[in-house]
Amino acid sequence: MNNKLFSILLALLNLGRSLNFSMLPTDFPFPDPFFFRKFLFPVSVPETRERWILKALRRAIRKDGFTVFYQVKVDCRTGQTAGFEALLRLKGMKLSPAVFIPVAERAGLMERIGRIVAEKAIWQLTQWREEGMELCPVSVNFSASQLCDQGYAGFLRDLLEQCHLPSSLLKIEITESILIQEREAAVKLFSDLEEVGIGVHLDDFGTGYSSLRYLTFLPSESVKLDKTLLDACLRREMDGKLSVEGKILLSDIIRMAHDLRKTIVVEGVEYAWQVEILKGFGCDQIQGFYYGQPQPGAEIPRLYLSRKQPRHLPGLFR
Ligand code: C2E
Ligand code: MG
Ligand code: MG
Repeated sequence: MNNKLFSILLALLNLGRSLNFSMLPTDFPFPDPFFFRKFLFPVSVPETRERWILKALRRAIRKDGFTVFYQVKVDCRTGQTAGFEALLRLKGMKLSPAVFIPVAERAGLMERIGRIVAEKAIWQLTQWREEGMELCPVSVNFSASQLCDQGYAGFLRDLLEQCHLPSSLLKIEITESILIQEREAAVKLFSDLEEVGIGVHLDDFGTGYSSLRYLTFLPSESVKLDKTLLDACLRREMDGKLSVEGKILLSDIIRMAHDLRKTIVVEGVEYAWQVEILKGFGCDQIQGFYYGQPQPGAEIPRLYLSRKQPRHLPGLFR
């Protein structure tokens, strides 16, 4: 690069820094604007990033800017599709929900967003049904900051009824942080969901505050073991062999969940050898890139669902 071009580029970068990128147009035309902005105008102030994400979220609420992807859960015994997890995405952006959900929580937007996700997931089930597919349960994540939405269970019941779907096709994934934040509201939510017949799954087990104690009194039908715990348990020692202690811990957690009459789903499974070990330990379901990344709803029938047997019409084969 010649010197002149280099100094122009440098001057542009400095200009960008001094301008503060919040002055840039919000409808930046790249698929992941934040990446490019970060590259061109290094962002040093976290609030600027937060403000930008918040703008994107508010726009998505107003203009149907969210979409939901679905990741398959596979039954370890049969190898068949056991269900799906609904995972939120911002249309046309590569921003991870692990980044934008906390921003939405801090801004008090999760009540609205939580309902949007549930609506989309239920609509998707009706869509798959219309395509003649055998339906499997879809689980939707629930953030602790949605606890203020006291009508949530009733909202789900009404939606399911309107769509003529059994409540057994919808599950709610919660983390135990829900009990730490607002115990009373959480207990009320559990009883409301139970009344509607919607099962609760305990998500991210093995992270954060994870305590075995919660397993005993959380009314969850299923426990989802987090990738970090899986990787910690199935780690290799210096000699290349799998840690014996890790394997003992993993099989004990699975056995304990079963003793408490809960099914166990292991998340973040990426390799065939992990699948084999988990099957050997009696794990119920597996979710992970080994079986597939989250996909748009329209792709799911082709990839994972089987068609319902066509009904024999009376007299047709006489
Ligand atoms: P989560 O609920 O624990 O979802 C599982 C995450 O692990 C997903 O990330 C999924 O893509 C990722 N994952 C699954 N299998 C593998 C694997 O084999 N390897 C690796 N490296 N990752 C795997 P995603 O979609 O980015 O979501 C991140 C988190 O954002 C979710 O974690 C959940 O806490 C939150 N989230 C996503 N959608 C929603 C939503 O609609 N509402 C709420 N409240 N939170 C959501
Ligand atoms: Mg989840
Ligand atoms: Mg999880």
